[in-house]
Amino acid sequence: MPPVVKTFDYLVIGGGSGGLASARRAAEFGVKAAIIEESRWGGTCVNVGCVPKKIMFNTAMHAEFIHEHKEYGFDVELKRFDWSVVKKSRDAYIKRLNGIYESNLDKSKVERIVGHATFTDDRCVEVNGQKYSAPKILIATGGRPVFPNIPGAEHGISSDGFFELEDLPKKVVVVGAGYIAVELAGIFGALGADTSILIRYDQVLRTFDSMISTSVTNNLESGGVKVKRKTQITSVTKESDGSLTLETTTGQIAGVTCLLWAIGRVPNTDNLGLDKVGVELDSHKNILVDEYQNTRVKDIYALGDVCGKALLTPVAIAAGRRLAHRVFNNEPDLKLDYSNIPTVVFSHPPVGTIGLTEEEAVREYGKEKIKVYTANFTPMYYAVLEQKGKCSMKLVCAGPQEKVVGLHIVGQGCDEMLQGFSVAIKMGATKAQFDNTVAIHPTSSEELVTMR
Ligand SMILES: Cc1cc2nc3c(=O)[nH]c(=O)nc-3n(C[C@H](O)[C@H](O)[C@H](O)COP(=O)(O)OP(=O)(O)OC[C@H]3O[C@@H](n4cnc5c(N)ncnc54)[C@H](O)[C@@H]3O)c2cc1C
Repeated sequence: MPPVVKTFDYLVIGGGSGGLASARRAAEFGVKAAIIEESRWGGTCVNVGCVPKKIMFNTAMHAEFIHEHKEYGFDVELKRFDWSVVKKSRDAYIKRLNGIYESNLDKSKVERIVGHATFTDDRCVEVNGQKYSAPKILIATGGRPVFPNIPGAEHGISSDGFFELEDLPKKVVVVGAGYIAVELAGIFGALGADTSILIRYDQVLRTFDSMISTSVTNNLESGGVKVKRKTQITSVTKESDGSLTLETTTGQIAGVTCLLWAIGRVPNTDNLGLDKVGVELDSHKNILVDEYQNTRVKDIYALGDVCGKALLTPVAIAAGRRLAHRVFNNEPDLKLDYSNIPTVVFSHPPVGTIGLTEEEAVREYGKEKIKVYTANFTPMYYAVLEQKGKCSMKLVCAGPQEKVVGLHIVGQGCDEMLQGFSVAIKMGATKAQFDNTVAIHPTSSEELVTMR
């Protein structure tokens, strides 16, 4: 006998940032919602992304501060760093978060379904042999890291594997030039591993403003990470002592104890049966959606990393909540505005960026309509330190009003500096309005309202 179909008003596939936010918000509107998750509640961000990454960034910050304690007069000595201590408390914290997500779903009366979801021919979703249906279905299945197709690639780990490491590896090679590669290489380096980052071109973060890519590449090097430019791995061999030998386009690297691939992510759109319902994909296998998160199939929506646009937790959450308002709370025009999304790279020191890069602004407005303000200085934190850190800032302004269309900052504290400025930029602030704000002294952020 075929299983009886269980029916809901809203069926969400994927219990990560976007799916959880949308299901819970829909439930607030009295909707009978269910959410399907095949792994751990919370998705990438909570389990193998933002959260454990930030804990490791904080750990690395401790290492940096300890080296500077002496010059500030503290008689401390760094005897040993034990990775397993922070790994244990980090895992326990995440386990607690997983539980909180579960109980929040229960409190919101969203039904939890555990298992792998696939669409069936009759527009139902099947999990462990049980069929579910709903007039409205959301796909928020996120993505996963990719490995290259070269001999021995499987001896390396991805960012997922980073969070399983039990110890700080001695000799690390990180491959990739995106923010995940930069962040993880920075953590390894700051904690004392012999770290190299292998990049295909000359700089990391190449899609960012050129000031950011140049500063971050330089900062990696001055922080002790070896930047191997124009280098690609051609094969990996595991030696009898467990170490890895890498053949690269610029020579051999031997004795590697951890090879980490951070070369990109792919959307989880395979093994979902999307062809059975006619949901369309682009050439990178991202789900095609319009600005309202509608797929090409009526009443089937998609959002978050699975759509391949602005792969960030708050983006998935904001899109998920707005979708719930639009579909279930009679707010037909509500959608996420994907412009001016602020983002931070937790490099050492961190980066904050919002809006257009200088290069993009020139393309969009024309060179003569753009005015760029920059600042490059040593923050006061370094006043009593021998080794000076730098802070660089750039405001990209457009038109006669000098509307601030891009803000790019790299330096200590920039991660926490950006959010407030992004409100101003989202509101359309001009350079004159920035300047009309009294500075806070002595801070690094005061430079942003005093640039000439
Ligand atoms: C190392 C790393 C660091 C990051 N750092 C940051 C950061 O600092 N700030 C930031 O904003 N973003 C960060 N991100 C990105 C952020 O984690 C993602 O953008 C966000 O998690 C996307 O949410 P989502 O809901 O689209 O997908 P996910 O959170 O990936 O959730 C998708 C869920 O769907 C489940 N699933 C998939 N297929 C199925 C199926 N067929 N059936 C059932 N369940 C399924 C998966 O198990 C997963 O739990 C980071 C990512 C990584 C990898």
